[in-house]
Amino acid sequence: MYNLDQFYDDLDCLGLQASEKQISQFLQYYNLLTEWNSFMNLTAITEFYDVLKKHFIDSLSIVQVYPEIRTHNICLMDIGTGAGFPGIPLKIMFPQLQVVLLDSLLKRIHFLEEVLEKLDLPDIRLLHGRAEDYARQDLEREHYDLCVSRAVANLSTLAELCLPYVKVGGIFLSYKSEKVAAEAAMAKKAIKLLGGKIAEQKELYLPNSDIYRNLFLIKKIKRTPNQFPRKAGIPAKTPIG
Ligand code: SAM
Repeated sequence: MYNLDQFYDDLDCLGLQASEKQISQFLQYYNLLTEWNSFMNLTAITEFYDVLKKHFIDSLSIVQVYPEIRTHNICLMDIGTGAGFPGIPLKIMFPQLQVVLLDSLLKRIHFLEEVLEKLDLPDIRLLHGRAEDYARQDLEREHYDLCVSRAVANLSTLAELCLPYVKVGGIFLSYKSEKVAAEAAMAKKAIKLLGGKIAEQKELYLPNSDIYRNLFLIKKIKRTPNQFPRKAGIPAKTPIG
Protein backbone atom coordinates (compact mmCIF):
# COMPACT_ATOMS: atom_id res chain seq x y z
CA MET A 1 0.00 0.00 0.00
CA TYR A 2 1.44 3.38 -1.07
CA ASN A 3 1.06 6.08 1.52
CA LEU A 4 2.37 9.60 1.89
CA ASP A 5 5.56 8.36 3.58
CA GLN A 6 6.42 6.72 0.30
CA PHE A 7 5.76 9.99 -1.58
CA TYR A 8 8.03 11.86 0.87
CA ASP A 9 10.66 9.20 0.34
CA ASP A 10 10.41 9.47 -3.46
CA LEU A 11 10.74 13.25 -3.20
CA ASP A 12 13.74 12.80 -0.94
CA CYS A 13 15.38 10.55 -3.57
CA LEU A 14 15.07 13.47 -6.00
CA GLY A 15 16.59 15.77 -3.36
CA LEU A 16 13.25 17.52 -2.79
CA GLN A 17 11.31 18.41 0.36
CA ALA A 18 7.66 19.45 0.22
CA SER A 19 5.95 21.70 2.76
CA GLU A 20 2.53 20.90 4.23
CA LYS A 21 1.01 23.39 1.81
CA GLN A 22 2.63 21.70 -1.16
CA ILE A 23 1.51 18.24 -0.03
CA SER A 24 -2.01 19.57 0.39
CA GLN A 25 -1.88 21.03 -3.17
CA PHE A 26 -0.73 17.66 -4.57
CA LEU A 27 -3.62 15.91 -2.78
CA GLN A 28 -6.17 18.48 -3.98
CA TYR A 29 -4.84 18.04 -7.49
CA TYR A 30 -5.21 14.26 -7.20
CA ASN A 31 -8.81 14.68 -5.98
CA LEU A 32 -9.74 17.05 -8.81
CA LEU A 33 -8.08 14.80 -11.37
CA THR A 34 -10.05 11.72 -10.31
CA GLU A 35 -13.29 13.70 -9.84
CA TRP A 36 -13.17 15.25 -13.35
CA ASN A 37 -11.87 12.02 -14.85
CA SER A 38 -15.19 10.38 -13.95
CA PHE A 39 -16.94 12.50 -16.62
CA MET A 40 -14.14 13.39 -19.06
CA ASN A 41 -11.06 11.67 -20.39
CA LEU A 42 -8.06 13.17 -18.58
CA THR A 43 -5.87 10.21 -17.66
CA ALA A 44 -5.84 6.43 -17.80
CA ILE A 45 -3.89 6.45 -14.52
CA THR A 46 -6.17 6.94 -11.51
CA GLU A 47 -4.89 4.80 -8.60
CA PHE A 48 -3.40 6.93 -5.83
CA TYR A 49 -0.05 5.09 -5.98
CA ASP A 50 0.17 5.42 -9.75
CA VAL A 51 -0.79 9.09 -9.95
CA LEU A 52 1.76 10.08 -7.30
CA LYS A 53 4.51 8.03 -8.89
CA LYS A 54 3.81 8.11 -12.65
CA HIS A 55 2.44 11.63 -12.89
CA PHE A 56 3.78 13.70 -9.96
CA ILE A 57 7.20 12.12 -9.31
CA ASP A 58 7.70 11.57 -13.03
CA SER A 59 7.04 15.26 -13.75
CA LEU A 60 9.51 16.28 -11.03
CA SER A 61 12.26 13.92 -12.27
CA ILE A 62 13.48 16.81 -14.45
CA VAL A 63 15.56 17.98 -11.45
CA GLN A 64 18.01 15.22 -12.32
CA VAL A 65 19.01 16.89 -15.57
CA TYR A 66 17.99 20.49 -14.95
CA PRO A 67 18.73 21.38 -11.32
CA GLU A 68 18.32 25.13 -12.01
CA ILE A 69 14.58 24.59 -11.91
CA ARG A 70 14.72 24.40 -8.09
CA THR A 71 15.68 28.00 -7.58
CA HIS A 72 15.84 30.04 -10.78
CA ASN A 73 13.09 32.43 -11.92
CA ILE A 74 12.44 30.44 -15.05
CA CYS A 75 9.80 31.15 -17.67
CA LEU A 76 8.45 27.71 -18.56
CA MET A 77 6.16 26.54 -21.39
CA ASP A 78 4.47 23.10 -21.26
CA ILE A 79 3.35 22.01 -24.74
CA GLY A 80 0.42 19.56 -24.87
CA THR A 81 -0.03 19.71 -21.12
CA GLY A 82 -3.28 17.68 -21.11
CA ALA A 83 -4.37 17.41 -17.48
CA GLY A 84 -1.34 19.51 -16.45
CA PHE A 85 1.69 17.25 -16.76
CA PRO A 86 4.44 18.06 -16.15
CA GLY A 87 3.58 21.77 -15.66
CA ILE A 88 1.32 21.64 -12.58
CA PRO A 89 3.53 19.41 -10.39
CA LEU A 90 6.50 21.60 -11.35
CA LYS A 91 4.63 24.76 -10.35
CA ILE A 92 3.52 23.23 -7.03
CA MET A 93 7.05 22.12 -6.18
CA PHE A 94 8.85 25.21 -7.53
CA PRO A 95 6.46 28.14 -6.92
CA GLN A 96 8.90 30.75 -8.25
CA LEU A 97 8.36 29.47 -11.83
CA GLN A 98 6.33 31.47 -14.33
CA VAL A 99 4.38 28.80 -16.14
CA VAL A 100 2.36 28.66 -19.36
CA LEU A 101 0.30 25.54 -20.05
CA LEU A 102 -0.77 25.03 -23.67
CA ASP A 103 -3.21 22.49 -25.07
CA SER A 104 -5.46 22.23 -28.11
CA LEU A 105 -8.34 20.57 -26.19
CA LEU A 106 -10.65 23.12 -24.59
CA LYS A 107 -12.17 20.78 -22.01
CA ARG A 108 -8.70 20.13 -20.59
CA ILE A 109 -8.14 23.89 -20.34
CA HIS A 110 -11.43 24.15 -18.40
CA PHE A 111 -10.19 21.47 -16.01
CA LEU A 112 -6.92 23.39 -15.56
CA GLU A 113 -8.82 26.62 -14.80
CA GLU A 114 -10.47 24.81 -11.91
CA VAL A 115 -7.10 23.43 -10.72
CA LEU A 116 -5.51 26.89 -10.68
CA GLU A 117 -8.42 28.34 -8.76
CA LYS A 118 -8.72 25.55 -6.17
CA LEU A 119 -4.99 25.18 -5.59
CA ASP A 120 -4.48 28.94 -5.53
CA LEU A 121 -1.57 28.83 -8.01
CA PRO A 122 -0.47 32.28 -9.23
CA ASP A 123 1.71 33.11 -12.26
CA ILE A 124 0.25 30.47 -14.54
CA ARG A 125 -1.25 31.27 -17.93
CA LEU A 126 -3.41 28.84 -19.86
CA LEU A 127 -3.34 28.86 -23.67
CA HIS A 128 -5.95 27.04 -25.69
CA GLY A 129 -4.86 26.23 -29.24
CA ARG A 130 -2.25 24.53 -31.37
CA ALA A 131 1.42 24.85 -30.54
CA GLU A 132 2.08 25.56 -34.23
CA ASP A 133 -0.15 28.67 -34.11
CA TYR A 134 0.97 30.32 -30.86
CA ALA A 135 4.61 29.94 -31.91
CA ARG A 136 3.96 32.60 -34.60
CA GLN A 137 2.99 35.22 -32.01
CA ASP A 138 5.74 37.69 -31.08
CA LEU A 139 4.89 37.46 -27.38
CA GLU A 140 5.43 33.70 -27.32
CA ARG A 141 8.14 33.05 -29.91
CA GLU A 142 11.64 32.57 -28.45
CA HIS A 143 10.38 33.90 -25.12
CA TYR A 144 10.93 30.89 -22.80
CA ASP A 145 13.93 29.71 -20.79
CA LEU A 146 12.54 26.19 -20.76
CA CYS A 147 9.98 24.34 -22.88
CA VAL A 148 8.87 20.90 -21.67
CA SER A 149 6.65 18.27 -23.23
CA ARG A 150 5.56 14.79 -22.18
CA ALA A 151 3.69 12.12 -24.18
CA VAL A 152 2.76 14.38 -27.10
CA ALA A 153 4.69 13.29 -30.21
CA ASN A 154 7.90 11.80 -31.58
CA LEU A 155 11.08 13.79 -30.95
CA SER A 156 11.31 15.28 -34.46
CA THR A 157 7.72 16.58 -34.34
CA LEU A 158 8.25 17.80 -30.79
CA ALA A 159 11.39 19.69 -31.77
CA GLU A 160 9.32 21.59 -34.34
CA LEU A 161 6.53 22.28 -31.83
CA CYS A 162 8.79 23.26 -28.93
CA LEU A 163 12.07 24.80 -30.14
CA PRO A 164 10.39 27.91 -31.65
CA TYR A 165 9.29 28.88 -28.09
CA VAL A 166 12.78 28.65 -26.60
CA LYS A 167 15.16 31.62 -26.28
CA VAL A 168 18.67 31.17 -27.64
CA GLY A 169 20.58 29.74 -24.66
CA GLY A 170 17.40 28.11 -23.29
CA ILE A 171 16.39 24.46 -23.09
CA PHE A 172 13.77 22.16 -24.63
CA LEU A 173 13.27 19.09 -22.48
CA SER A 174 11.41 16.03 -23.71
CA TYR A 175 10.14 13.36 -21.29
CA LYS A 176 10.12 9.90 -22.85
CA SER A 177 9.11 6.63 -21.26
CA GLU A 178 10.80 4.18 -23.58
CA LYS A 179 14.14 3.59 -25.27
CA VAL A 180 14.23 5.98 -28.20
CA ALA A 181 17.60 5.55 -29.91
CA ALA A 182 16.05 5.27 -33.40
CA GLU A 183 13.70 8.19 -32.73
CA ALA A 184 16.60 10.31 -31.50
CA ALA A 185 18.67 9.48 -34.58
CA MET A 186 15.74 10.48 -36.83
CA ALA A 187 15.26 13.74 -34.93
CA LYS A 188 18.89 14.89 -35.29
CA LYS A 189 18.27 16.73 -38.55
CA ALA A 190 15.13 18.48 -37.23
CA ILE A 191 16.84 19.55 -34.01
CA LYS A 192 19.77 21.07 -35.92
CA LEU A 193 17.56 22.78 -38.49
CA LEU A 194 15.40 24.31 -35.74
CA GLY A 195 18.42 25.74 -33.89
CA GLY A 196 18.92 23.05 -31.23
CA LYS A 197 21.61 20.65 -30.12
CA ILE A 198 21.17 17.54 -27.93
CA ALA A 199 23.08 18.50 -24.76
CA GLU A 200 22.23 15.49 -22.63
CA GLN A 201 20.21 12.30 -22.73
CA LYS A 202 19.60 10.71 -19.34
CA GLU A 203 18.14 7.27 -18.80
CA LEU A 204 16.75 6.76 -15.32
CA TYR A 205 14.32 4.84 -13.14
CA LEU A 206 11.74 6.69 -11.08
CA PRO A 207 12.69 6.47 -7.37
CA ASN A 208 11.96 3.15 -5.61
CA SER A 209 10.67 1.59 -8.82
CA ASP A 210 11.62 -0.14 -12.04
CA ILE A 211 9.79 2.48 -14.11
CA TYR A 212 12.15 3.48 -16.90
CA ARG A 213 12.38 7.06 -18.18
CA ASN A 214 14.45 8.89 -20.75
CA LEU A 215 14.98 12.64 -20.57
CA PHE A 216 16.29 14.56 -23.57
CA LEU A 217 17.81 17.94 -22.91
CA ILE A 218 18.16 20.01 -26.06
CA LYS A 219 19.92 23.34 -25.93
CA LYS A 220 18.86 26.16 -28.24
CA ILE A 221 22.05 27.42 -29.85
CA LYS A 222 20.65 29.60 -32.62
CA ARG A 223 17.36 31.15 -33.68
CA THR A 224 14.67 29.03 -35.32
CA PRO A 225 14.19 29.94 -39.00
CA ASN A 226 10.92 31.80 -39.62
CA GLN A 227 9.35 29.05 -41.72
CA PHE A 228 9.06 26.83 -38.62
CA PRO A 229 6.83 25.54 -37.24
CA ARG A 230 4.97 24.62 -40.40
CA LYS A 231 1.16 24.80 -40.55
CA ALA A 232 -0.84 23.07 -37.78
CA GLY A 233 -0.85 19.31 -38.26
CA ILE A 234 2.11 19.15 -40.68
CA PRO A 235 4.85 18.57 -38.02
CA ALA A 236 3.01 15.43 -36.83
CA LYS A 237 1.99 14.24 -40.31
CA THR A 238 5.34 14.81 -42.01
CA PRO A 239 8.10 15.11 -39.38
CA ILE A 240 11.34 16.70 -40.58
CA GLY A 241 13.82 13.92 -41.20
N1 SAM B 1 1.48 16.05 -21.34
C1 SAM B 1 0.33 15.36 -20.76
C2 SAM B 1 0.75 14.13 -20.02
O1 SAM B 1 1.94 13.79 -20.07
O2 SAM B 1 -0.09 13.49 -19.37
C3 SAM B 1 -0.73 15.05 -21.82
C4 SAM B 1 -0.37 14.04 -22.83
S1 SAM B 1 -1.69 13.74 -23.96
C5 SAM B 1 -1.31 12.12 -24.48
C6 SAM B 1 -1.24 14.75 -25.35
C7 SAM B 1 -1.82 16.15 -25.28
O3 SAM B 1 -1.19 16.96 -26.27
C8 SAM B 1 -3.33 16.21 -25.53
O4 SAM B 1 -3.96 16.87 -24.45
C9 SAM B 1 -3.45 16.97 -26.85
O5 SAM B 1 -4.61 17.77 -26.89
C10 SAM B 1 -2.16 17.80 -26.85
N2 SAM B 1 -1.66 18.15 -28.19
C11 SAM B 1 -1.26 17.31 -29.17
N3 SAM B 1 -0.80 17.99 -30.24
C12 SAM B 1 -0.89 19.31 -29.92
C13 SAM B 1 -0.58 20.53 -30.61
N4 SAM B 1 -0.06 20.50 -31.84
N5 SAM B 1 -0.79 21.70 -29.98
C14 SAM B 1 -1.30 21.73 -28.72
N6 SAM B 1 -1.64 20.61 -28.02
C15 SAM B 1 -1.43 19.42 -28.62
